[in-house]
Amino acid sequence: MLRALFIYLSKAAWARRVVTHWRIAWQAASRFVAGEKLEDGLSVVKKLNANGIQATLDQLGEHTTTAEDAEKATQGILQILDAIEAENVRSNVSIKLTQIGLKVDLNLCSDNLARILEHAKQRNNFIRIDMEDATCVDDTLALFYEMRNGRGFHNVGLVIQSYLYRTVEDVNKLMQIPARIRLCKGAYKESPHIAYPKKRDVDANYDRVAQILLERAFEVGSPELSEDGRVPPIPALATHDEKRIRFALEYAKQIGLPKKALEFQMLYGIRRDLQASLAEQGYPVRVYVPFGSEWYPYFTRRLAERPANVWFFISNYFKK
Ligand SMILES: Cc1cc2nc3c(=O)[nH]c(=O)nc-3n(C[C@H](O)[C@H](O)[C@H](O)COP(=O)(O)OP(=O)(O)OC[C@H]3O[C@@H](n4cnc5c(N)ncnc54)[C@H](O)[C@@H]3O)c2cc1C
Repeated sequence: MLRALFIYLSKAAWARRVVTHWRIAWQAASRFVAGEKLEDGLSVVKKLNANGIQATLDQLGEHTTTAEDAEKATQGILQILDAIEAENVRSNVSIKLTQIGLKVDLNLCSDNLARILEHAKQRNNFIRIDMEDATCVDDTLALFYEMRNGRGFHNVGLVIQSYLYRTVEDVNKLMQIPARIRLCKGAYKESPHIAYPKKRDVDANYDRVAQILLERAFEVGSPELSEDGRVPPIPALATHDEKRIRFALEYAKQIGLPKKALEFQMLYGIRRDLQASLAEQGYPVRVYVPFGSEWYPYFTRRLAERPANVWFFISNYFKK
């Protein structure tokens, strides 16, 4: 119930207008968001790197409705790539296709994506395409294949969500390349016609897909995290769920996959203890570091995942 409510609020313009004016909301959001500026993101990345953890920077923003806004977002992403190069940090970049024009015009989005990949390629960097709600999945996959097979970019990977029924089929096809995949559970509200409504099924599918990724990585020679920490291995397991992590660790050991041939990913502000513990054990860990003024939908999705966060923030506010 609460999850559905927060996901509804994440898309409601009236709620965004109200909430973004509350100081308490920004205080709460800043647990999950590095700050409003690129410098804020970079300073978090440097701290993570100092602790042996890689990052992926994300300029917040999604669902742009004009070509001008899509261009502005594209320019922002190019600047992130320049800054990573200039500061020599161990980070790649995550992007959302609706931010660079997916819902405005597919050709425009394809051109913007190709510009970003070319800019990244010249700086030996890697772009991860986030997966958005189910209305974006076909176009996201199509653009991924166009970039990878049609335009020959190898510095691109994408995200797959275990809550979708279609995912095993999509992954089996992507593994023929094999593509670099970030596996997550999925953060949007989807209909039971297309997504598992029960958490235990989403979790079981997560393990099943993780197994496919780990086996395929082993079969193709276990490509490891790049020396500069930017290009990830084939499987990137994005979850804070210890059971999923344990399952993957045990399965990877069982098939003999080297530690550096799989990566764990978590969100900034969530389970720092787990991030540190996996890094200490010698596994690549990457933290998703969002920054920017468009923090509202990202923040409300984090509340949807764990509504208890709301009470935590409210009680802390009144303790001050
Ligand atoms: C690096 C990364 C990238 C992602 N990219 C995408 C994407 O492109 N598309 C997409 O749809 N989704 C994405 N997600 C979100 C993902 O789909 C889940 O919604 C989110 O990770 C919560 O699921 P979980 O796997 O942590 O498991 P859950 O079962 O939801 O949580 C397991 C445990 O993690 C902790 N936890 C989880 N969420 C929170 C939270 N918000 N606050 C505090 N503690 C929490 C709690 O201890 C919880 O018990 C991404 C997640 C990560 C880590």
